[in-house]
Amino acid sequence: MKILIHKEVPSQLLEAAREMCEQIDIKQMIFDANITGLNGKLGMFNPNTGAILIDIGTCMKNVRWMELGMSYIPNVWCNMLHTVFHEGAHASHFMAEPEHFEMYMEHKDAVLEHAADVEALELTIDWTRLHETPTISEMGWAGEQIQTLLNSLYLKDPNLIDEAIEIEYTKAAGKVAMVAAHCPGLADDEDAQRVIRAVQDGEIGIRINGIGYLKIDDILEINNQQDRR
Ligand SMILES: [Zn+2]
Repeated sequence: MKILIHKEVPSQLLEAAREMCEQIDIKQMIFDANITGLNGKLGMFNPNTGAILIDIGTCMKNVRWMELGMSYIPNVWCNMLHTVFHEGAHASHFMAEPEHFEMYMEHKDAVLEHAADVEALELTIDWTRLHETPTISEMGWAGEQIQTLLNSLYLKDPNLIDEAIEIEYTKAAGKVAMVAAHCPGLADDEDAQRVIRAVQDGEIGIRINGIGYLKIDDILEINNQQDRR
């Protein structure tokens, strides 16, 4: 697989992409930002060229994991990983059933889209469980944008920035209280309380300066269980 890096990405992302490509024959993977023609999508698989396109700029703008209570920087990282795995899933579905995939391209088949999402979520959970989250300085082009953003926000809300810095070298991805309040995977208050207790008891997540946090894989897993119900 040929990798074209128009915008620098975390080395961990390249590692994840290379690992995935051991199973799937992807011709090319292109990392860029604000790609015209993607219409706000995070990535794309082109069956004609066998190439995968990943838009790092959109990975910074899309806040879908924050809706589950995740903090901004883990949300960006999660977008990058999930998009690589999602487009990889499309590539493998295409190779298994090219005709079906052509129909998908024409009709935007929701079944294949969902299948790619499910596969990507499982792979993102597995990956983040086993690997560290990149620090801001390891995040390449996105890291530079994030640093600029943090600098400009610091005067307005130092507490918010302090938290971002505090969790930077850890696997903390979101305050358990935020996840309990926001994650649709926690169907009712009892479920939310159970998660808060599990962090207190050290079964999941981590505690930093007395505050309970969940890791990326914890948050995704909670949401995933809801999907399976
Ligand atoms: Zn898709």
